[in-house]
This record gives sequence, structure tokens and C-alpha cells, in this order.
Amino acid sequence: MVRFLTAVVLSVMVFLGPAPAKNSADDKVSVPVLVYHRFGPAVADGMTVTTSVFKAHLQWLQDYQYTVIPLRTLVDHLRGQGPPPPPKSVVICTDDGHISVYTQMLPLVRQYNIPVTLFIYPSAISNASYAMTWDQLRELKQTGLFDIQSHTYWHPNLNKEKKKLKPDAMQKLVETQFKKSKAVLEQKVGGQVDLLAWPFGIHDDYLGQEAQKAGYVAAFTIERRHAGPPEAIMALPRYLMVNADGAKRFEAIITGRAQEKGPKTY
Ligand SMILES: [Zn+2]
Repeated sequence: MVRFLTAVVLSVMVFLGPAPAKNSADDKVSVPVLVYHRFGPAVADGMTVTTSVFKAHLQWLQDYQYTVIPLRTLVDHLRGQGPPPPPKSVVICTDDGHISVYTQMLPLVRQYNIPVTLFIYPSAISNASYAMTWDQLRELKQTGLFDIQSHTYWHPNLNKEKKKLKPDAMQKLVETQFKKSKAVLEQKVGGQVDLLAWPFGIHDDYLGQEAQKAGYVAAFTIERRHAGPPEAIMALPRYLMVNADGAKRFEAIITGRAQEKGPKTY
């Protein structure tokens, strides 16, 4: 009976499944991209992952022989400009430039010797009390382990702005948010800034096109799926990490058992 059912299921799958595509995006791998925000000894808010939980994540990845790869490696591959990432690859990002990236995350990044991408909105740097300074960001960059990329200039809620502003003003705001962030980060920290994390994950076709015009080659949401084909390059998904992501939930995320249905084509 089991064998019969298996045969039925298999034949249905063969019948309904897509024809195998040659040299298509289907050949490319999907990678979980994790995004953290804040670290600390205790959970201060919903965006905090305690330093010990974060350390447990890194240890889990090491124990199970996962490789933390630079986000750039994945982007290059998805753009057809680089080799596929190794099997069991994971990407780690942190958004917003919180001071705990410097005080809590940096020692662990050094200890585990992993590449990390930070998405920064420059208006906060050396300005907001919770944020890092430009000197600290440069120090992170100089370790060779941190890549600094853009999270727009001041982290606007682009849905709210769109309702508030006339089209001309909205256009100007969007251009400024994309271009100024890129220019300031490149000038203050150095390196090429051409990756964008959408504030609050908000994005649409128009924003994706404007970001491309401003020089971005890939952008990231907070939708809970692995990043790979057939996702849109300007809306690549990432898993928003919270402190409740203990060993079991972490394993489910990494192995793809915690994915939302998708992909959304925006
Ligand atoms: Zn953010």
C-alpha cells in the first residue's frame, strides 16, 4: 500500500512538476540569510537576541559544519557573476548599526572568524545614543570581517511617506534616501556600497527600480524564506532573528523547515 501510494505520488509529481530547465536559475542554490539587530546580556526589546543565544547560533553552525559566507558571494552568484556558494552556506547580517554590534557582536565575530554584513542608515551614526560612531564602524571594516552596506539614509517608513507626500516630493525623498546613504557610507567608511536593506522590509516595483537607478544591485526584505531563485534580486528574503530562536527553531530556520510559502513576486 505504501509502495503503491508512493508510486502514485511520484507519478503525480512527475506529471505536474515543471520540466527540468537547463542552465536556468534552478541550478542555483538557496541560502538562509539571517538578520539580527541588537545583542546584550538580557532581552531589552523584541529586536534583541542575547549574546549567549547568538553565540549558541554560531556554535551550532560550527558543530554542524555550516559555512558562513559573505553576503556578496551569494549576490554575485545570484547575479550570474560568481560560483555557487558551498553546500550548507549561511549568511549573517545585522541591520541598524546598534552599539551592541561593536560591544557584543564583534568579539564573537572575531572568535568564530565569520564574515558579516551590516546595513547602516548613516543619519544615526555618531548621532543617536544607541548607535555606533563612524570610528567604530571603520574599526569593524578594518577587521576585514565586516562589510558595510546601506539601509537608506534615515530609515523612513516608505509606506507612510508615500501617503503623506506628493509624487514629486516622494520621488525626491526616495532618491535622497538611496543616493545619500550610499555616498556617505562610501566616503566615511570606504568600499563599494551597492546592497540595500529595505527599512521595515517595505518595497515595491517602483522602489526597486529607483534603488537600481541609484546604483544598488541587490536589496533585502524580511520575508522568511531562503534566498535563491526564483526570488527577485531587489527583494531577496531574510529571516528576522529573535531571542526565542533557540536551538530547535534555529535548526528549523537553517534547514528550511521554517519557510513561509513563497516567493512573492512584488
Ligand atoms: Zn532597520
